[in-house]
Amino acid sequence: MKKSDELRKKIGYEKKCFWTDTTKNEQKTALKFAENYKKFLSVAKTEREVIDYTVEELKNKNFANIDVPQKNNNNRRIYKIFKNKAMAIAVIGKKPMSNGVNIVASHIDAPRVDLKQNPFDESSNLAILRTHYYGGIKKYQWMSTPLALHGVVIKANGEIIDISIGENDNDPVFVMPDLLIHLSRKEQMNKTLSEAITASHMNVLLGSIPYYEDKEESKEAIKLNCINLIFNKYNIKEEDFLSAELYLVPAGKARDLGIDKSMVIGYGQDDRICAYTSLQALLDVMEIESDKTSVIYFFDKEEIGSDGASGANSIFFVDFIADLLKYNNEDTSSYNVRKTLIKSSVLSADVNAAINPNFPNVHEANNAIRLGYGVGIAKFTGSGGKGGSNDASSEFTAKVMKIFNDEKVNWQIGELGKVDEGGGGTIAKFLAYHGCDVIDCGPGLLSMHSLNEVCSKADLYSTYKAYKAFMQKA
Ligand code: MN
Ligand code: MN
Repeated sequence: MKKSDELRKKIGYEKKCFWTDTTKNEQKTALKFAENYKKFLSVAKTEREVIDYTVEELKNKNFANIDVPQKNNNNRRIYKIFKNKAMAIAVIGKKPMSNGVNIVASHIDAPRVDLKQNPFDESSNLAILRTHYYGGIKKYQWMSTPLALHGVVIKANGEIIDISIGENDNDPVFVMPDLLIHLSRKEQMNKTLSEAITASHMNVLLGSIPYYEDKEESKEAIKLNCINLIFNKYNIKEEDFLSAELYLVPAGKARDLGIDKSMVIGYGQDDRICAYTSLQALLDVMEIESDKTSVIYFFDKEEIGSDGASGANSIFFVDFIADLLKYNNEDTSSYNVRKTLIKSSVLSADVNAAINPNFPNVHEANNAIRLGYGVGIAKFTGSGGKGGSNDASSEFTAKVMKIFNDEKVNWQIGELGKVDEGGGGTIAKFLAYHGCDVIDCGPGLLSMHSLNEVCSKADLYSTYKAYKAFMQKA
């Protein structure tokens, strides 16, 4: 070995690739871990569907809903659903919670295209649905691609109708028809990316057959026929749509990506990859008699700023801690709730941007996340000089690094792009408001916020290992 290599090995730092740094056995485990993840991504495409999936898992593992009276309070496995759109799950440890709990918090909403409250319209002899996008999207990506409709309609009598159209082979799908290239010169090709497709272009084809029971022509007969088909199938009237939450999402399943099948392509991985891995980690931790209580949160509304009752910037974060203290027969005074949070350690579990081979110049390579190099730690996020970010302390960052090293987690550290290239935030700052130690931690993705996000199976598995290590050791 050359002298310089020897010295580098002794005092230098080098990122390690999961595929060359780990044993064949561990790689096999990582590839296998992705199988159920793909199934989860394929069925859980809204925050409500993530909750439905999770509750099924929890029932199989004997978790109790904290809001349902229990025969005894001996069950250490507890969950709570908040407003049907956020949830928290806990495995209670042996020591009092007032010593602090370990929290992994992610978000389960994802960028999408919502139907307007009055969605039905007719234009150019076609029935269409009008939309309003949710979260940060590149609008052009949503054109000319098969879309499924997911969501709920609450009828006047309170009955909840779950809708999912476009995921089964026999289901119809929906589309926002883009303009043909032949006629795009003025309308699109000479405009900027954000001007060429605007929100007003994002209407969805709903149908083309008119209602024709009348002899004479009636107005908007195609729209009427479509509403009638919906009424016949679901017993929902047009007025019921005014209060509905219906989302257009990419139709179809998550799949393996690459000739080596080392990656997963699928919708909604920001941030359901963190929700899924934190759930799997918690289900493992529950088998171990831990001293500390482990809690995971699934928040809604992150993509629109974390406001609203089901977002991370709501009372739910604190309220569940109070619920846990009460359940565990501990002091529930606001003083003790505050102190419990101040002593708690939190991973703000969210994805980061991995270096994209098509656009490597938006990153500074030494401080960027690489696909396949393990879970990413982001000491800070934000934009314009770390604006609006949590910026974890050196003490807590070092503590998390040590836990990951001790538990042989493949990890890396990176920031979201070059300085002043753009930026973005996470829920970290809303949780840090309560005085707990918080750091951002999650895998890197390619094509984040697109209809087909990409992750590495190595990073998926490393993230699960990281969350498990954190829950046990923080
Ligand atoms: Mn996110
Ligand atoms: Mn996002």
